[in-house]
Order: sequence, then structure tokens, then C-alpha cells
Amino acid sequence: MELVEERPCRYRIEPYGAMRVPGVVFASRDLLADAEKSLAQVVNVATVPGILGASYAMPDIHWGYGFPIGGVAATDVDEGGVVSPGGVGFDISCGVRLLAADARGGELRRALPAVMDGLDRAIPRGAGPGGVWRPSGPGPLERILADGSRYAVEEGYGEERDLVRCEDGGAVAGADVTQVGERARQRGLAQVGSLGSGNHFLEVQQVAEVYDTAVAGAFGLADGQLCVMIHCGSRGLGHQICTDHVRVMDRAMARYGITVPDRQLACAPVDSPEGEAYLGAMAAAANYGRANRQLLTHAAREVFRRAAGARLSLVYDVSHNLAKTETHDVAGRPHRLCVHRKGATRAFPPGHPELPPDLRGSGQPVLIPGTMGTASYVLTGVPGGDAFHSTCHGAGRVLSRHQAARAVTGKEVRARLDAAGIAVRPRSWRGLAEETPEAYKDVSAVVAASERAGLCRTVARLVPLGVVKG
Ligand code: 5GP
Ligand code: MN
Ligand code: MN
Repeated sequence: MELVEERPCRYRIEPYGAMRVPGVVFASRDLLADAEKSLAQVVNVATVPGILGASYAMPDIHWGYGFPIGGVAATDVDEGGVVSPGGVGFDISCGVRLLAADARGGELRRALPAVMDGLDRAIPRGAGPGGVWRPSGPGPLERILADGSRYAVEEGYGEERDLVRCEDGGAVAGADVTQVGERARQRGLAQVGSLGSGNHFLEVQQVAEVYDTAVAGAFGLADGQLCVMIHCGSRGLGHQICTDHVRVMDRAMARYGITVPDRQLACAPVDSPEGEAYLGAMAAAANYGRANRQLLTHAAREVFRRAAGARLSLVYDVSHNLAKTETHDVAGRPHRLCVHRKGATRAFPPGHPELPPDLRGSGQPVLIPGTMGTASYVLTGVPGGDAFHSTCHGAGRVLSRHQAARAVTGKEVRARLDAAGIAVRPRSWRGLAEETPEAYKDVSAVVAASERAGLCRTVARLVPLGVVKG
């Protein structure tokens, strides 16, 4: 396949075969080394019914289930466009939340070991069950699925302002709890308020550089500030919902006359019973994911209060695995679209009506984790942002978990991080090795390419001080 450079950091794949739209890849040549398999997925995605604009890839693209991770695909809701669980991913509403401490680095540094030990004890993690909250049966779980972090805050796990600074005010509309299967509920019930494993983390960070003081100020960030970044999703509940609905759609596709080049692209029209069922269940999982991050926020706040006398305020919470109904202009006309973002972050520009009033002037905060050994970024959306106002979601993997674990041991990773002054509280040595910083692309290069491509703007760079790993 041929990549034609249209502009710096923007490549085009002309439609061929069954492609309905071109592929558009935002990246530098360097970042695309070894990207063949994921670029083939960009081409496959361009064949799904109703896709408009292009099949987009972000600079952190890597291989995923059917759709690449770091992909954006929007389908026309009113013209037979489809929704595909593979376009959202297994960890529905996986996302990032950033909290800012009301203290500068220097003041908190002395308390850091106690904070890290406190977090180590307070943050449930690993593959199995166990969470901050044990809902007393199906009633509370239903409320979590319907109302997300709104319910968590109502129950005392947060403050009103947390909802203002969360995408969708803390809960996605349209959750249909009847579409969440029994097995998904069981898995969800046991894991409310837990990180999960591997790539998920809670990190204490410090603002190392501010690129735009005014926007950083509007977000609640300043040079030297201590922060907490939480990355997790909907645990076994989201995974089970994805599994269940992929199966249903796989069987339903023939009935709608849909053929796809890869079964993992299983999909159904947005307005079909199968499409609506998935979107209802997906919204419920998204609410679970937000409640999950809200509960972990509560646990982290308690630790910071007790160990350091510090308060944590929410900067923002945004998902990077979700499909949303949004209206965008395509070829000069507004269309109601089902925008799939999988390993891609929504990046609304200044003035967007869905932003809370105190962020209208600055744009939406976009939270980009890098690695536990390098850096993470805060970005913001820009006017005219491409790919339906989307950007990257992380550094993106270059080594598989298996390759990473063969290259280094967990103890070596900890020794290196210790030497760099980064305190690690791992759950397992194997998990730590799989997440070694070399397993990821250079986050600074990914962010630079995203900015160069016109997807976003950098606001601040954060460096890790301590990491609680799943
Ligand atoms: P994903 O959602 O694709 O699993 O991960 C998102 C991104 O999180 C990855 O691309 C990687 O850049 C980042 N990441 C994974 N582990 C860590 C960590 O321990 N600390 C930080 N800051 N980022 C991480
Ligand atoms: Mn995840
Ligand atoms: Mn994620």
C-alpha cells in the first residue's frame, strides 16, 4: 500500500478495493516503522458501511482487535452507518483522569514516601476481583451503570465539581442496563473501584514544563505542581460486554447484507436492534468506567489528605475508547455521526458548547500518558481540529508484552526507575517488565506529530515521581 505525504505528519492512502473512503495517517515516517499490520487495519476499517471522511490513524497507532489502536472512524447514523464493538475496544471507556494537588512539588516531596505507601495499600489492582467499593447487590450496580460517577458522588465518593470536569458530566446518556448480560454484571460487581492490570496505573507526577500558561491556568495547572494521573477502564464488565455483543453482531451481519474483510470488524447498523443493544450496553460500561475512576480518586484523596495534608482537584476526565453520537460537517454539510475512537482522545476546541463554562475559552483538556519512566502530556483541542476533533491517546506500544518481558526483568525496571528517583509500587514483577518504558514509542515524538498534524496543542509536560502499577 502506498502512503502519500500530503503535508508534514499527514499521509493519505487512496481508496482501492472495497475501501469507501481514503485512509489518513497522522504521523512522522519514523513513527510508522513496523506499522504494516496496523496500516492494513486502517484500510480494512475504510470498508465499513456508512463510513464518512476517512479511516484515520493517530501517531500512536498499533495493532488492535479488528480496528487499530489509535484509530478514529465515523459512520453516518442516518444513512445506514454501522457501529462496531471492535471500533471501541474491549476496555470500554478506558480513559485518563488528572488531579492537581494544592501544593507545589517541594512542599510535598518529603511526604512522598508516605503517600506512595498509602496509595500502595489503598489502590486495589491486579487481574482479579476486589475494589474500593463492594456494592451491596444488584441495586447499586444498576445505579452505577445508569449514572456513572454521578452516583458515586451522590454516595459520598467525590464532590460536585468532579462532575463538571468529567466528560459528559460524569454519565453518558442512553445506558440500557437490560443489555448488560449476567456474566458481565457478575464480573463488574466484584471489581468496582479497581485499577486492573498491566498498562493501568495511578501515578504521582509533577508539572515539568508549561507551554501555555493561560490555558494551563484555566485547567488548574502551574509549573512545579504535583498531580495524580489515573488510567483505567471498565474492567471485566466492559470486556464481557464487548465479547457478548461481538458474538451477536457476527451472526447478525449476513441479515443486513454486510460483508467485512475481517470478522473482528463485526458490526451492525446503528439503528438496528443489535446496534442499539450494543450502544446501550456500551454506555452502561462507560458509566461503570467513570465511576471506577471516581472511586479511585476518592481513595487517592484520602491518602493525600492523611499523609500530606493536600487536596486534589479534578482537572479533567476523558475516555479514549468510546463511540459517541456527534454532529460534524462533512463536505460542507452537518451529519449525525457515530464517532468511534479507539485509543484516540476527543479534543474539542475552544468555544465548543459541550465544554463546561470555565473551559470554554481554553478548549478541552486532553490527557496523554507516556510511560512510567519518561513523561506524560496535557494537550488541548484546536479550532478546525481534524479527524472529528480527535488526537492520540498515549505513546503507543512498539514491543508486545511478551517481547518486553523477554527483554528485561521487573526487578531491573524497578532498579532503573529507583535510580531515576521514581518510586514504583508494582503488583507483579512480570507486569512491571511488560510495561518497561522501552515497550512504548517516544511520547514526545507522538505528541509533536499530533501537534504538527493540527490535531491539538501542547499545554504542559508532566514527569513521574511515583507509580502504582496494576
Ligand atoms: P492503553 O490505553 O493503550 O492501554 O494505554 C495508553 C497509554 O498509556 C500507552 O500508550 C502508554 O503510553 C501509557 N502508559 C502505559 N503505562 C504507563 C505508566 O505506567 N505511566 C504512564 N505515565 N503512562 C503509561
Ligand atoms: Mn484499558
Ligand atoms: Mn487505556
